[in-house]
Amino acid sequence: MAIVYNKSKPLSLGAMTVRLLAYSVFAFSINNLERVSAMKIRKISVYQVDLPMIEGAYSWSNQSYAAFDSTVVAIETDEGLTGVGETCPLGSSYLPAFAEGARAGLAEIAPRLVGENPLDAGRINDRMDLLLKGHPYIKSAIDMACWDLLGKSCEQPVYRLLGGMRQDRVKLFKVVTRQSPAAMAEKLRAYKEQGFRQFQMKVGADPDIDIERIFRVSAELTDGDVLNADANTGWRQHEAIRVVKEIRDVDLYLEQPCLTYEQCLTVRKHCSQPMILDECMDSIEVLIRGWRDGAMDAINLKLNRVGGMTKAVLFRDLCIQLGIVMTVEDSWGGEIATSAIAHFAHSLPQEFHFQSSAFHEYSFVDIADGAPTIENGYMRASDRPGLGVEPRMDVLGEPVFTT
Ligand SMILES: [Mg+2]
Repeated sequence: MAIVYNKSKPLSLGAMTVRLLAYSVFAFSINNLERVSAMKIRKISVYQVDLPMIEGAYSWSNQSYAAFDSTVVAIETDEGLTGVGETCPLGSSYLPAFAEGARAGLAEIAPRLVGENPLDAGRINDRMDLLLKGHPYIKSAIDMACWDLLGKSCEQPVYRLLGGMRQDRVKLFKVVTRQSPAAMAEKLRAYKEQGFRQFQMKVGADPDIDIERIFRVSAELTDGDVLNADANTGWRQHEAIRVVKEIRDVDLYLEQPCLTYEQCLTVRKHCSQPMILDECMDSIEVLIRGWRDGAMDAINLKLNRVGGMTKAVLFRDLCIQLGIVMTVEDSWGGEIATSAIAHFAHSLPQEFHFQSSAFHEYSFVDIADGAPTIENGYMRASDRPGLGVEPRMDVLGEPVFTT
């Protein structure tokens, strides 16, 4: 049917104003779309920074580090906006990832992303997967910077782009690093005095001492406190079975007792506590398999283990659909990675969020301003556009390389 305009009837002042306003909005939208769609990556700079521990060391399972080597990525665009991302493997043998590998991988893929539109995070991920098979922790930093740019370009915080703020504060846990049983019990008491109610104690070393650690630390808990014992893959299957039988009546969550999914599944059959799977939860296929096997009640979703926020969204949405609770984390990092964690965790319904980490609390080196604020055991991301962080160039220094 043809549309017929009545050209003879003069427009009232009100109607003209409405049409002018409508045209202005339309023209602004078109201009805005053109501006957004034309954005291109001009340059990618990669920085290295050490994050030393305030407590002197961070120890888990059979590993211990005094500092973690982090990599920061800055993506500059032809429109003057810069996005930042960070990836920080927890040493070189926690996951199949290491700091020099992050930078070597970025040197491989970053030059071939110049000219791409960073706002198309899905396309950028496709391209990264085409350029480099695997190595999700490397790609996570680029993906994070793309989300930062997307937020800055439309002047919205990242949590809104991820679906909006479904919980307005993010519950934190404090790590009780592996020490003597007495020292760990004392550390938990100190964290409680700071207002924290949720704790992760590191075990996964000698199983007999770990049993003592669990009894000593759990004895410090009071009503409302939540404890999980994270073995970080450290026990052999027979050791883990001994531990879970000994601690049968302790009210805690057990996290990743052994190296492989299959070993953890066997331990699960002997375990009376809820189980969290972390290191082995590295693909959607394992997540679905774990759900079908009833292998876990919760997963630890680490952004750089799955390749970044774009890919983590699928884990998040599947977990919500399947009734699996999530800890939201990254392997490690400073203010930038913590900000990404906070934005992502805000996008979870409260009942599906178990806990998160604020890594920047553990180091005395600050790599960015605008980190999530922390109060009474919770954190909140910045409401500024993007991730809301501003890297401190005086701390990052000169880039390791620039495309
Ligand atoms: Mg863990």
